Amino acid sequence: MELSAYQKVFRSGTGPSSLVLFSTKMASTIIVPESMLNEIREGVVTEEEAEILRDLGFLVQSSRKEKAEMRYFIDELNGADTIFAAEVVMNLDCNLACRYCFEGQRKGEFYMTEETADQVVKFVEHSVRSRSNVTDVRLTFYGGEPLLSPGLLTHISEKIQNRPSAMKKDTATGGLLLPTELSLLPSTRRKSILPASGRLQLPSTVRRISTTGLGRSPQARDLSI
Ligand code: SF4
Repeated sequence: MELSAYQKVFRSGTGPSSLVLFSTKMASTIIVPESMLNEIREGVVTEEEAEILRDLGFLVQSSRKEKAEMRYFIDELNGADTIFAAEVVMNLDCNLACRYCFEGQRKGEFYMTEETADQVVKFVEHSVRSRSNVTDVRLTFYGGEPLLSPGLLTHISEKIQNRPSAMKKDTATGGLLLPTELSLLPSTRRKSILPASGRLQLPSTVRRISTTGLGRSPQARDLSI
């Protein structure tokens, strides 16, 4: 028997010489004496201890076999799913300055390039082609603020527009740029960015202040699209 590859070891708050083992595969936990970790690794635990550790997923016949089984399990899960879903991060920039911003230090003037956008298109096409049972493709344009990248957003949206699978595109936006960006686009393009089947994930109850302090994020009902 071997220690499972899917475990994390933490110091226990219950005593200086105790460890918490957490199985990321089984979501199980056990507190053991620190000295026992080596005994588990060396396979010198008692039969009774081994049985408990096996039941909780910490001991397995072979960690190599366990990894192979997990790979197969994920392939099997993906194979059973008829939906291909992806979030496309257009940039990490934002025109709002929410006090509660959860993006922290990740934000900045980092924008997807056209080359990467073409790779996104290829990745989606390849993923859908390689899974014969996919009937729905769902893309969510995300940021930062995805509408700060209207050109590339349209580019990706139009290139994947005419694929055989049903396509749904959502845009997770703060909403402040929405009226302006939409008015700049011809109506056919508006449709490709905000297709009737797609959703706008807008803050419906919270008004947010822009970085310039000049605008506020509109409520969903204020928008005429
Ligand atoms: S809209 Fe912009 S500022 Fe507000 S939480 Fe999201 S990333 Fe942060």
